[in-house]
Amino acid sequence: MFSPLKAPIIKAPPNLYPLTETNPRKQTKPRTQITSTLKSFLDLKPESKPEFLTFDLPFHDKSDRVKYEVIIIGAGPAGLRLAERVSAYGIQVCCIDSSPLSMWPNNYGVWVDEFQSLGLEDCLDKTWPMTTIFLGDQRTKYLDRPYGRVNRKDLKTKLLEKSVLNGVKFFESKVWNIEHHEFESVVICEDGVELKGSLVVDASGFRSPFVQFNEPRNHGYQIAHGILAEVDEHPFDLDKMVLMDWRDDHLGNEPALRGNNNKHPTFLYAMPFDSNLIFLEETSLVSRPALSYTEVKKRMVARLRHLGIKVKRVIEDEKCFIPMGGPLPIIPQSILCHGATAGLVHPSTGYMVAQTLARSTLLADVIAECLGSTRMIRGSQMHQRVWNGLWPMDKKCSREYYRFGMETLLKLDLKGTRKFFHAFFDLDPYYWQGFLSSRLSIMELGMLSLSLFSHASRSTRIDIVTKCPLPLARMIGKLVNSAI
Ligand SMILES: Cc1cc2nc3c(=O)[nH]c(=O)nc-3n(C[C@H](O)[C@H](O)[C@H](O)COP(=O)(O)OP(=O)(O)OC[C@H]3O[C@@H](n4cnc5c(N)ncnc54)[C@H](O)[C@@H]3O)c2cc1C
Repeated sequence: MFSPLKAPIIKAPPNLYPLTETNPRKQTKPRTQITSTLKSFLDLKPESKPEFLTFDLPFHDKSDRVKYEVIIIGAGPAGLRLAERVSAYGIQVCCIDSSPLSMWPNNYGVWVDEFQSLGLEDCLDKTWPMTTIFLGDQRTKYLDRPYGRVNRKDLKTKLLEKSVLNGVKFFESKVWNIEHHEFESVVICEDGVELKGSLVVDASGFRSPFVQFNEPRNHGYQIAHGILAEVDEHPFDLDKMVLMDWRDDHLGNEPALRGNNNKHPTFLYAMPFDSNLIFLEETSLVSRPALSYTEVKKRMVARLRHLGIKVKRVIEDEKCFIPMGGPLPIIPQSILCHGATAGLVHPSTGYMVAQTLARSTLLADVIAECLGSTRMIRGSQMHQRVWNGLWPMDKKCSREYYRFGMETLLKLDLKGTRKFFHAFFDLDPYYWQGFLSSRLSIMELGMLSLSLFSHASRSTRIDIVTKCPLPLARMIGKLVNSAI
């Protein structure tokens, strides 16, 4: 297996795009072709096979107690981190997952400072000191904020190890149903096994059937096609991760793709590991309904050709579909949610991992206040407290603001999107970094809006005010409602 960790650092080949104001490298001839007639990376089969961790997990068996204090459904980043945190208080936890030792399928990217503040920087397998945003029309921004790729294997192993040390039991099964009683819930698994818990936490991801909503779930959708590829060469600097490449020169000979990209733009996200190994992902930041997956792949083929990236091997591929925004679940309800199920995905960016790992600690504190040895808070009183611990008022208000951010992005065409990000990344780093990491209070988000408005071009201001009156009114209404 190709290991990005062992990959040597080699000087990047020349940039294939026209000169930029900040990166004046030599221009080479664009290589746009009609995508349909030529072979592409889509003809290559991904080589990776499903991987499993070799780890001796303590499993729940029939002779074990059937009642736990906390049952967590799902051993994704949210479920495992919460299991590890809650069990650190000596609380008995059982984590149920249909395949607890499977490697997580998603490629996670995070800001390095986020992982440092969690003490998890040893779980990054590659970091880049800077990130690049290509805005088109020869404008490029370099962000002085290091970015990293999460080593899924290391992070999952670390969380499993700590959970096991704290006494967490695992159960390999699929949860079918949950019955709620006054002071306990019964989790019914596909093999008929029933487990009882004082608190059940649903961390089973976006598709959970167990959580309840009382508003229509009008999500936006992030969709993307990603590949970890061995390539002949690529044009990106090795010390910079490409957060967004909004250039569209590659669609010059593709009028249909170009027209659609103008209306519903996609960008390239790229992690160059060395001069021959790179993770490339064509991404629709947010669309409603979701942009067609075929369209995204066609644009990616055209882009890679134009960039002169010839893929020799597809080591891994990733189909990304992330529902974003939408309402929060009913608060409270008899089941607690965490991670993607709980609405923790950032509505404007699709990021979630760092935020969820951080919020797990706060959530575990509240759970321990209820179920720890000194307090005996159960039933509806506990549900109220744990839900408020997950979604305190300030966080709920900030999320409304991020939802408004998503609605704004949904309305912007390629030109508007580029202008928006031009103004956004011109903000004081405290604001743009805080926005992307969900760290800002609602007051700070207010300050950010004022600053963004004063930085934005006239057309961006008009876009924000005229294209989003309803989401703006809804956000203000919700904020006023929360304040009352
Ligand atoms: C392709 C992709 C790429 C992403 N990249 C990033 C990124 O770079 N950075 C970022 O911050 N976020 C990213 N996200 C968003 C988000 O962080 C991930 O979706 C994240 O995996 C969500 O974590 P989770 O623990 O909530 O759920 P999941 O990771 O989906 O884990 C849910 C677990 O529950 C189990 N399960 C489901 N149903 C049941 C059941 N009925 N019974 C028992 N077990 C069950 C599943 O097997 C799974 O193990 C990405 C999402 C996708 C889809």
